[in-house]
Amino acid sequence: MGANLTNERVLSTMNVDGSRRWLRPALSAGGFWKRRAMVGWGLIALFIALPIVPIGGKPAVLLDLARREFTFFGTTLYATDTVLLMLAMLGIFLAIFLLTALFGRAWCGWGCPQTVYMEYVFRPLERLIEGDLKAQVAMDKQRLHPRRLLKYAVYAVLAVVLANVFLAYFVGIETLGHWVLGSPGDHPQGFAIVLGTSVLMFLDFAWFREQMCVVACPYARIQSALLDKQSLIVAYDRGRGEPRGKLRKTRLEDTSLARAAAAPLAGDAADSPGASAAAQPTSEPAGDCVDCGACVRTCPTGIDIRDGLQMECISCTQCIDACDAVMDKIHKPRGLVRYSSQDEIEQRISQTVKHKLLRVRTILYPAGLLVIGALFLAVVSNRSDSEVTLLRGIGAPFDVQGGNVMNQMRVKIHNHSTAEHQYQVELVGQPGLQLVGPENPLKVKKGEVRTVGFFVTGKVEAVRGSLDVPVRIKDGNGFDKTVNFKVLGPRP
Ligand code: SF4
Ligand code: SF4
Repeated sequence: MGANLTNERVLSTMNVDGSRRWLRPALSAGGFWKRRAMVGWGLIALFIALPIVPIGGKPAVLLDLARREFTFFGTTLYATDTVLLMLAMLGIFLAIFLLTALFGRAWCGWGCPQTVYMEYVFRPLERLIEGDLKAQVAMDKQRLHPRRLLKYAVYAVLAVVLANVFLAYFVGIETLGHWVLGSPGDHPQGFAIVLGTSVLMFLDFAWFREQMCVVACPYARIQSALLDKQSLIVAYDRGRGEPRGKLRKTRLEDTSLARAAAAPLAGDAADSPGASAAAQPTSEPAGDCVDCGACVRTCPTGIDIRDGLQMECISCTQCIDACDAVMDKIHKPRGLVRYSSQDEIEQRISQTVKHKLLRVRTILYPAGLLVIGALFLAVVSNRSDSEVTLLRGIGAPFDVQGGNVMNQMRVKIHNHSTAEHQYQVELVGQPGLQLVGPENPLKVKKGEVRTVGFFVTGKVEAVRGSLDVPVRIKDGNGFDKTVNFKVLGPRP
């Protein structure tokens, strides 16, 4: 029973007693790691640039939740653009489905900010400040070690910077600048938001780390439904690797792998499944896996890729780099752990096919995306720069004075364009009625919403019961819209 408990794992990041299994993945700086570094740094630059670089007078991306305006590369969608917003959301979901069906969790390993910042900013800083894995483990004995405190101080500064960049997407850099440069007393709400986001960033990268991918991220939960047997995954070639076994001493002496294979595992990863209990030292002939555990020690989510496809795998390719380095040392072909598909790895299709691009879901998803794209373009091309709503005045529906009936009408105009417009409001084909307002035409600045009250007046005889009156609103720039307004009067 005790032995069973010791081998039992519920989560790769949890010990059997429920405590956190703290992971310190060893770096495998192979070819994939270098390619991912280039992609990662490019994405970091993009992440910083998008809320700052202006396109058409607005930031390239601004998700102004307070005003419900969403700007993407010069185009602003408003809360009233529900069809466009719905199409955009549908498109994003379908694109994620397609990406996952084709490339598995490539997003997690190559593009997700959690992985990119963790592996290319926070983890390298940790190695730089605290030293190698051995030094980090030794540091655990002295909780307030000066180097660890320095690491947390650097993390805190970075967390504040990242939190500000993140918030710039939602409030814009101008508002953020006021919050940051002004006194907290002047902007208590803004200050609280910046502080709260910074604290969350710090906790995420200093403490929560891989738990975000393993237990919190909803994408990980649904990926099994999105993958199929031909999706690209990082996989261990069981047919080639098994039966795994340590290299015999005579072979070990010939190779520098002797040291690597005999090296103690660092930190808590020492009890990782890398030192597989199932694997027994074997005599040759054995499979190509020498059970060195390098693929496990390097895994940022603490799993053993040799156990097959697992929810915790973020396709970061570190195990590929680690195993390729081992294969080089023992003069075996690379690719024992590689990008593959379940079908290929289970030898249901030839290794040269690997990954069939055309499948039912990889045809249906792009077809859906095409339809959504076409609908989106059609709606955008018919979209007006202005939006008009007629509202009834607050209070009594109408008023009768000296034989005249009066209805209050509020004209609400939203100018989406990038210039000020003047809107003329007039009644169409109603000689017995007049429109009285404080200002006509109405000036509305770019991006502004104005609501102005008018009165529709006429003799009581002209309005008995109710009358649908066409109201025309036009500007000199091609906007021309007629909307009916119900004018009410005393019953006949
Ligand atoms: S790194 Fe390769 S050889 Fe070593 S345990 Fe992992 S799969 Fe086996
Ligand atoms: S199993 Fe390999 S690809 Fe998956 S998370 Fe671990 S190291 Fe990355």
